[in-house]
Amino acid sequence: MKKLYTHENHLFVHNAKHFVEEAGICCIVKNAYLAGGAGDLSPFDTWPELWVVNEDDYAAGLALLKKVFEAQQDATDWVCKQCGETNGSAFELCWKCGADL
Ligand SMILES: [Zn+2]
Repeated sequence: MKKLYTHENHLFVHNAKHFVEEAGICCIVKNAYLAGGAGDLSPFDTWPELWVVNEDDYAAGLALLKKVFEAQQDATDWVCKQCGETNGSAFELCWKCGADL
């Protein structure tokens, strides 16, 4: 096993896990419940970690996450054609009126 990714936010780690698993790479999250140990342990040591089970998958997993994170950074807000509301890039529907992109 080899550590692929870590972040203090569980949502980021589980989001990364979703993308890696979707690509057919077997992975697990370690330290999922270690946050309560912060204080006795260094906070950084309590962050959840995403590990690939087979080290041969590490390079493919890393390349995949790099591609995903770069795509997320390139995403931009969009303006609804129906109501003119500005929506964050994470939304596929207008949060105000429900219209599609
Ligand atoms: Zn709208």
